[in-house]
Amino acid sequence: MTTILWDVDGTLLLNSFTGGGELYHVAVERAVGRELSPPLPRTHGKTDGHILTDILEHFGFDAAQWHEAARDSLDALSVERAKAGDRREIAPGIREALDQADARGWVNALLTGNSATRSRVKLDGSGLGAERFDWSRSFFGATASERSEITRAAREALPDETLVIIGDTPRDDEAAVAAGIPFIAVATGVFSAEELSETGAILVVPTIEGHLDAVLEAIAGL
Ligand SMILES: [Mg+2]
Repeated sequence: MTTILWDVDGTLLLNSFTGGGELYHVAVERAVGRELSPPLPRTHGKTDGHILTDILEHFGFDAAQWHEAARDSLDALSVERAKAGDRREIAPGIREALDQADARGWVNALLTGNSATRSRVKLDGSGLGAERFDWSRSFFGATASERSEITRAAREALPDETLVIIGDTPRDDEAAVAAGIPFIAVATGVFSAEELSETGAILVVPTIEGHLDAVLEAIAGL
C-alpha cells in the first residue's frame, strides 16, 4: 500500500496572502484576553503547535498553561473566518494528481502542521473537499512542537506502508528525513524550486501542473 501524505498550506492550497500569519496572533490575544504588540513575523512550515508556543513565550506567557486555550481559539477563529467567506485557492494540478493517485490504488492522506479542524475548514472552503482524503491515515500538528513529531507518528502508525510526503518548505524535508520518509518538493509556497533543490527531496517541481508524470513516476519507483 502506498500512501501520499500531502501538506496543506502552500501545497494542496495556495497560501493566504491576506493575514494568514495574523490569525495565530489574534488567536493568542483572544486566549489570554489581552492585546499583544507588535506581532512576531510570519513563519512558514512550522506546526500550529510550534507557532502558538512561540507567540505565547515571546509575550511572557507559560505555554504549558495557555496552549490549549490558544488552540481552541485558533480553531474557532478559522471556522469563523471561513463562514465570513475566507477561501483558499487550490494549487494548480492538485485535482488531477489526486485523481491519478486514486486510479493507481494509492491513498491520498494529510500530513500538516494544521489542526484537524483547520485542515477540514480549509479543504472544504477551497472546494477540494475534506472527504477527498483518508482521515484514518492523516496526521496533524495542533499539539506538536516540531514537525518531525508528526512524521515520526506517521511512520510508526503505518509501519508497512510505502509513504511519501509532498510539501513546499525545507521544514517538510527535514521532518520527512527525520522519519525516513521520502520527500517530494513543490514550489507553490514561498520557497523557490532552486531553494528546495538544496533539500534532500527526491524530486523538486515548480508546480504539480505540467509535472504530474514526473511526480507519479517518482512515487511509483519507491
Ligand atoms: Mg506547507
